[in-house]
Amino acid sequence: MEELRFVRFRLKGEPFFPDRPWIRDIASVGDLDAVAAESDVFLIDGEGPLDDARAFLRRVRSRWDCCAKPLFLPASLGGEDDLLADCVVGSLDEALRRGREMSARLTEVNGEALAESRDFRLLAYLFVRMDGEMRPYRYPFTPQIYGYPVADLLAGEGSDTLFWLRTLRDRGLLAQGKLVDRIRFCPKCDGSHLNYVDVCPNCGSIDIVRKEFIHCFTCGRVGASEEFLQENRLRCPFCSTRLRHLGSDYDHPLESYGCNDCGHRFVEADVVVSCLCCGARSRPDELTVKAVHSYRIAEAGKTSARVGSLEDVYALLDGLNYVVPAYFSQLLDWLLLLNQRHPDERFSLLAVGLTNLAPLSERVGRQRTTQLVDAVAGRLRQLIRSTDVTTRTALGTLWLLLPRTDAAGAEILADRILALRELVSDGSGAAIDFRIARLSSPDDLVEGDNAARITARMAGEIEA
Ligand SMILES: [Zn+2]
Ligand SMILES: [Zn+2]
Ligand SMILES: [Zn+2]
Repeated sequence: MEELRFVRFRLKGEPFFPDRPWIRDIASVGDLDAVAAESDVFLIDGEGPLDDARAFLRRVRSRWDCCAKPLFLPASLGGEDDLLADCVVGSLDEALRRGREMSARLTEVNGEALAESRDFRLLAYLFVRMDGEMRPYRYPFTPQIYGYPVADLLAGEGSDTLFWLRTLRDRGLLAQGKLVDRIRFCPKCDGSHLNYVDVCPNCGSIDIVRKEFIHCFTCGRVGASEEFLQENRLRCPFCSTRLRHLGSDYDHPLESYGCNDCGHRFVEADVVVSCLCCGARSRPDELTVKAVHSYRIAEAGKTSARVGSLEDVYALLDGLNYVVPAYFSQLLDWLLLLNQRHPDERFSLLAVGLTNLAPLSERVGRQRTTQLVDAVAGRLRQLIRSTDVTTRTALGTLWLLLPRTDAAGAEILADRILALRELVSDGSGAAIDFRIARLSSPDDLVEGDNAARITARMAGEIEA
């Protein structure tokens, strides 16, 4: 491997790292623009001001051309800044060793994709730190309490980072790491600043006090201890009996709370939660509970980081009587209704999954994969009638809606599509794999079917 190019952001004061010919020093955050592309590892060095160090750190992580590169500190900056940097190193040798490992990983990443989308910036960042987890950081005065500072910077301004991360997890690109915390939110306004209050279980008043009570054995009545105290002796205020001996004349009942509003005595207070944001009162079991996790890169995410986005490759299929998914669903629902009224009005639906694009692209390259998909799209165009309608969902599944086509007709088309596998392969063994799910009315329909249920069912068949 070639020697690494270090860029050191030099603060004022004594440096920690020794000077080396391959370390290039810059003194202001603005200097980063000139050296970002020709750098492999970043160092922050010197004594201060630390705000400059923080600004540099943020600038590195927000630029697509260096956001995933290693950045080492000679000492902790504290708090979220340490999450943004890679780690504190004890020597230049350690920075070299770790920098080599991480830079080697970074060369495997598809570099162009970093500029294209925040998804790939995050996947590349995590791919380079393969065994690491992206930890959340606690921001006590924010509504969500926890945030992910690295992801915030990689995403750019105005992103809903928490939603974005959940989406990546749902798409199988990220996996949940260590459970960090569990937070409760107000069910009305989703606020997290909650106050837990003890209240009277009878009337709900918060005006309750801890009290000692006395139970008179003679008349059986119960009252607060202070009501029994007369001239430093205990006398029952109800039956006037002198109470001398605990256990034979009187005892203390289990109740130890009293309500100043309704007079109720009780053993345990109720707990209600009042929201400091909207004022709503809830029972503890009504609160929304959310778990806060670290995130790791999933296997699919690692492939994706190496291959880059296949979105534009899939988009080649959109030339075929394409309609947006929402309109496609409406058409499908309409055909279902039509079929209920006129059972002879047959239709079929095909779901065609291109199942191996990511591994194929990794093996034969993106350009070759694009050519193969283009060839498939060309052949499909010849197979599809002008009345057929297609759409494509995010998972790279192509949907064909075939009006006035029965099961036999759909099977013929499915076989022809499967045959494209051989037709467009070039003898080098590179080929696109298809998996096809079929549905034809009325035989494959079940009670209560609608577009959403049908497409979910068929998508499941393709993935299985
Ligand atoms: Zn009494
Ligand atoms: Zn009460
Ligand atoms: Zn609230």
